[in-house]
Amino acid sequence: MYSALDRHPVASYRAPHAWAAALAFSVLTGVVLLIAMAAPAEPEAGVWAPRTDLPILAGAVLTLLSTLSLIAAWRQDRDMARQLTARDAMLHAAFLSTPALTLSRDGLIQRMNGAAVALFGLPREAALGRAFADLTTEFDMDAVLRAGAQAGQLEARHGHWTGRRADGSTFPLSLRFGLIPPTPGPGGAALEHVALALTDLTRSHAAEAQARELHAQLNKVWRLNSLGEMAATLAHELNQPLSAATAYMHASRAEMLKAGAAGEAARRPLDLAKEQLLRAGSLIHRMRELLTIETSVLGRERVSSMIEDLAPILQMIGQDRNVQVRLDAEAENDHVRADRIQFQQALVNLVRNAVEAAAERPGGGAVSVTGRVEGPVYRITVEDNGPGIAEADAERIFQPLTTTKSGGMGLGLSVTRTIVERHGGALSARRSPTMGGAAFAFALRRHEEAAQ
Ligand code: ADP
Repeated sequence: MYSALDRHPVASYRAPHAWAAALAFSVLTGVVLLIAMAAPAEPEAGVWAPRTDLPILAGAVLTLLSTLSLIAAWRQDRDMARQLTARDAMLHAAFLSTPALTLSRDGLIQRMNGAAVALFGLPREAALGRAFADLTTEFDMDAVLRAGAQAGQLEARHGHWTGRRADGSTFPLSLRFGLIPPTPGPGGAALEHVALALTDLTRSHAAEAQARELHAQLNKVWRLNSLGEMAATLAHELNQPLSAATAYMHASRAEMLKAGAAGEAARRPLDLAKEQLLRAGSLIHRMRELLTIETSVLGRERVSSMIEDLAPILQMIGQDRNVQVRLDAEAENDHVRADRIQFQQALVNLVRNAVEAAAERPGGGAVSVTGRVEGPVYRITVEDNGPGIAEADAERIFQPLTTTKSGGMGLGLSVTRTIVERHGGALSARRSPTMGGAAFAFALRRHEEAAQ
């Protein structure tokens, strides 16, 4: 009774022998009738004439019909048996790879396949007959009742179930169930009430945690980058008026010196004011230095791997606006020198802009990120099917604090351009020839091993 689920051989369905017997019987009846028909009606007359009496003729026709219908039914049965064998083989193959077990009404493990045994890391004998609740925290059979269906997902109170391995370690788990119909007939009172398919969520949880971590890192880098860009813009904008004011003061001082004793009294505060202006200038300079986008640590990185890590975040950005984001980066010869997180920041900025532009498109927005080897460089292109960029705006949009969005800061493209330039590339914008919207692209020199 406690045999392992996966030890069952694939069932081989065959048309039952009863078909062959019925067919043989029918054919035999036909032969007897034929002999009866062929026997002369009046043997003593010495004249051979086949019998044509109605009962014999009717018997022959009926026998023929029943033989034909038996053949048709046998063929139908044979086809169905073949289909069942194929389905059984498929189910068996699927079953081997999916951890699965069956439970009795009171939640005791009745059967367990190898994958489930491996998942919990305990000997099968130790698991069979044991309460499944011992292996899965907070599990109770009421969860099946609560589901109120014949099959489906078993909802856990805290988002997922927690499995407990033999060594005491725990892992996140999702459970799907199917009710096992009671076996009809005598002796068919099955102990098995429900079948469970188990999915170990460890990997997907780890991937989610990794994506969350990357997201947090990118947010932090974004804050620093945008501050840096603001500081650079401010420094650039303030530099000119500060220099002009310093020059005017210098000129005033010269004029005052000419005025002799009368100007002498005003010279001192003028010198102090000039000192303050110079101080303000150096403060701004210092702030700019401090907040400069840092990409000094360029390591050897693979573009496809940087994009792959980012995939969940890029997909999430697309899903938020109902835009499909396609990623297609060539993974051969894709080494470049890059600051991983800054590179990813640049890509996120371009994809976010592309998604926002494509979201306006009626009938479905789409964004495509492609990476291609082009001789000595690796080119990354982010395209969309949004409205594109007017020729007149092609340069202007890269300037800091330029935005057409109500909540926009106008820093994304200027930060991205700075990052790309720090990597030795150049960011350009044009119309996408394939998707019709904007296409932002940059190329980085490929980094090959010295030996290659
Ligand atoms: P923000 O996104 O805060 O506006 P950006 O510097 O990222 O700042 O972008 C500046 C402007 O460039 C945007 O406001 C938008 O008008 C334009 N732009 C950027 N990317 C695209 C794109 N893919 N399609 C159309 N316009 C774009």
